[in-house]
Amino acid sequence: MKEECGVFGVFGCEDAAKLCYLGLYALQHRGQESAGIVSLDHHNFYVVKGMGLVSDAFNETNLAYLKGASAIGHVRYSTTGANHPNNIQPLYSHTSKGNIALSHNGNLTNALDLQNKLRLEGALFQSTVDSEVILHLISRSKETQIIQVLQETLKQIQGAFSLAFLGDSFLVAARDTFGFRPLVIGKLDTGYIVTSETCALDLIGATYVREVEPGEIVLIDKNGLTSARIPGPAKHALCVFEYVYFSRPDSIVFGESVHLVRKEFGKVLAKEYAIDADLVMSIPDSGNSAALGYSEESGIPFEIGMTRNHYVGRTFIQPEQKIRDFGVKIKLNPIASVLKGKRVVVVDDSLVRGTTSKQRVSAIRQAGAKEVHLRISSPPICFPCHFGIDTPKREKLIAAQKEIEEIRRYVGADSLGYLSLEGMLAAIKTHQPKEFCVGCFNGKYPLKVQNKGKFSVNSRKIKLYAEKN
Ligand code: AMP
Repeated sequence: MKEECGVFGVFGCEDAAKLCYLGLYALQHRGQESAGIVSLDHHNFYVVKGMGLVSDAFNETNLAYLKGASAIGHVRYSTTGANHPNNIQPLYSHTSKGNIALSHNGNLTNALDLQNKLRLEGALFQSTVDSEVILHLISRSKETQIIQVLQETLKQIQGAFSLAFLGDSFLVAARDTFGFRPLVIGKLDTGYIVTSETCALDLIGATYVREVEPGEIVLIDKNGLTSARIPGPAKHALCVFEYVYFSRPDSIVFGESVHLVRKEFGKVLAKEYAIDADLVMSIPDSGNSAALGYSEESGIPFEIGMTRNHYVGRTFIQPEQKIRDFGVKIKLNPIASVLKGKRVVVVDDSLVRGTTSKQRVSAIRQAGAKEVHLRISSPPICFPCHFGIDTPKREKLIAAQKEIEEIRRYVGADSLGYLSLEGMLAAIKTHQPKEFCVGCFNGKYPLKVQNKGKFSVNSRKIKLYAEKN
């Protein structure tokens, strides 16, 4: 199971669900398959979930239903269990510790083992998302205080998790000991906000307080914030791909501006792969910051060589190949009057399968560019991610299958240069290289991935009819 997700939570703010709705809007880039909010007032939990974008899932009527001063929300994209409404988060359950709702960003690497064990002991799973094991473990805990319950629970799960829990009287934010995925705390009036990225704080006018530390559990209740640790060694493995592609450039992630880090990537790339050219352009929007850095460092002017139709979803994040190909064609259009007769440096953030890049290079050439020099502001992606970024299997990763020269020929560029791994890590000034997970580039994962094999009970899938809105 792979998840790309955004997590948002509100505690002690009037109209919590509306703030949550806005927060999810800001996190929409982290997942477009489904969205959900669970809110809480003095009497009840209220739940609204739907398939599609935040704007598809919510309307004035269902938002008005979400009463209370606390709420958590979630946006999700996954590659499995796609259209099953039970998989939409937040998940919620009547546990032995009270009602608990859960939003999870990340990917648990021992979920299958845990599910098998729990099933054999009689647990009934309602969804096929790995996150559900967390609710089962909470309910089984012999501890009584929520912090101890979570310490006991979270030390049993492995992999990547940035979590928000909403209970009868608390909001909890927790992050795995590696800190793979971001999670931050903000303040709004008398209340607190928890969010995957700071861009959501900006939108609702909340102030940034701090990151939830790797391995930290932060309990937010009527007494304020209480911090505790998940037992176990803290060896940081922050996901560098959050900087490369996944986070929004206006966010502060792992303490650094994503835009400025990307710009540095572009500068280093310009030093590593210099070329004589007339202009530097980006593949919008993910290549923008790095292209500016490349231009600044090389002295070659930056130009807008392509415009993007913003009303088309992110092409890569469409579940079916058919739709993805269609998306590429309608999304980006080269500006022929800029490109005609020019030697062009094209900067993009990453090459995954190479298919969209090939089409983009060919479109830039058709628009009249004399030379196309492709520059990628990350190293070759040769390995899948097991910690929450949706990357295809190795067979589909172009850099795992072909040499650089073959890739250049495949995408049809006159030259091709990837940012080196050392160059990328050196560009991130406030962290040591060893603090990052770079498993997608070098195959060295910070922990063993256990999710192998099948469910112990070999059953057919349960297919629910789901109305797509
Ligand atoms: P491709 O043509 O398959 O190599 O796709 C390259 C494009 O996919 C780049 O422009 C990236 O911005 C984008 N991309 C990279 N990683 C992801 C991801 N995990 N999800 C969605 N899009 C991605």
